[in-house]
Amino acid sequence: MKTLVFATNNAHKLDEARRILTDYQILSLLDIGFTQDIIEDGDTLEANSAIKARTIYEFCHTDCFADDTGLEVEALHGAPGVKTARYASPGHDNAANRKKLLTKLVEVSNRSARFRTVVTLITDSYERQFEGIVNGTITAEEKGNNGFGYDPIFVPEGYDHTFAELKAEVKNSISHRARALQKMNDFLQNNIEHKQ
Ligand code: IMP
Repeated sequence: MKTLVFATNNAHKLDEARRILTDYQILSLLDIGFTQDIIEDGDTLEANSAIKARTIYEFCHTDCFADDTGLEVEALHGAPGVKTARYASPGHDNAANRKKLLTKLVEVSNRSARFRTVVTLITDSYERQFEGIVNGTITAEEKGNNGFGYDPIFVPEGYDHTFAELKAEVKNSISHRARALQKMNDFLQNNIEHKQ
């Protein structure tokens, strides 16, 4: 079985990736002994995703991938976007981020938003990026206990429940990250180098 390092320790993301990339052993940052902070100072999801993947490839010289996700809210002209993790404060406080967004959208009728993920794959021979998008709406209040981040306030298109109310299997089959990872998996399956 081939190995791929996923530049994360987030259990939800690892679970999502392992359900999709079934031909690969997926290692976390903990598994490879990487404990430093990565400074994500790019202006775009594409740049930050590449920064993470390149840092990990330099560290372990093993095929690896990284993801970067932004929540893009139509009424806020695409914000928080690249600042999604640090929306309320530099400290990646998910509860404070959700509260800030709900406060910004009080009395705003256009609740349309989308999650966008950019996955960067690096191997000895190439670097490639894959994008995944899920459209949806922002609720007026938090609902559900599953998932992480903005899940309690995001309802994906075609559903009546937030990501945090949906079962992991459902979220993981339609999420922004799942879509990007599915594209990466399709690419790997069709890539002769990776079949060997
Ligand atoms: P990151 O790029 O995965 O670090 O995510 C950036 C921000 O988006 C963080 O605030 C995450 O909590 C949030 N985020 C990423 N993926 C998801 C998701 O699947 N559901 C809800 N929030 C997410």
